Amino acid sequence: MLETILLIIIFITGTYFGSFYTLATYRIPKHENITYKHSYCPSCNHKLGLFDLFPIFSYIFLGGKCRYCKQKIGIRYFLFEILTGIVFVLFAISLRIDIYNINVHTIFYFFIAVLYLSILFIIAGIEKEQNILPHSVLMFGSLVSILYIVYSYTQGVANVYEYVIYLIIMILLFLIDFKFFKKNLKHNYYIQLIILLLYTFVFTGIYVGICTVIITIISIGFRNILLYIKKKNSKVKSKHNKSQIAFFICVSNIVATIICNLMLNYMCK
Ligand SMILES: [Zn+2]
Repeated sequence: MLETILLIIIFITGTYFGSFYTLATYRIPKHENITYKHSYCPSCNHKLGLFDLFPIFSYIFLGGKCRYCKQKIGIRYFLFEILTGIVFVLFAISLRIDIYNINVHTIFYFFIAVLYLSILFIIAGIEKEQNILPHSVLMFGSLVSILYIVYSYTQGVANVYEYVIYLIIMILLFLIDFKFFKKNLKHNYYIQLIILLLYTFVFTGIYVGICTVIITIISIGFRNILLYIKKKNSKVKSKHNKSQIAFFICVSNIVATIICNLMLNYMCK
């Protein structure tokens, strides 16, 4: 019973994070503030009130329209909030959170896990919607992974040297990218991708990392086949040139983490 209530709370928390990710996806590329600035309707710029900001319920009660200008709100935002709620619940289940055994470490791990998930969701969202791999979010992610490495070190985790290697590679890549940026005035996409992969390796370990790479390659393969069929069938040239590899890495990593945790925590015990 208590566990069900906990899962419901986690689901609702997830939907709130979902609506935050949508907001961050639109504001970060525009360099707008994601914490203080009031939410507003993108169509009429009207400030949104408390009742407009409940995830899922606001959408249902307002009939999928803005209360002020009646502009339709895309159903995908609504579906995305449900999806993040489900992902949060699956994550909690896969980690086998024990409500009777909560201490400082589990709370810290939960906090880190939410941060880690949020960074993946926001990077995926921005690349999917705006075709940009946000460097600031990637930098922030790297800082969070350093925090995690330091924490692991203080806890005496055995494979901390593995982490130090990731860290050194990460810093080197940032330096190389910085040089590239100075020369070309843009970041190197492939270096950024490797940094992103290292980020997932730090949080989910080498095995989940390898699974992430495999799922990424398979799903990009499928996407390309679908695009090829679509292109063949339509005479209009599609504009899908950008590979959006970061999006696939983020999604694959979330899937791989949940599956591997489920196997580890349920099958091997
Ligand atoms: Zn409006």
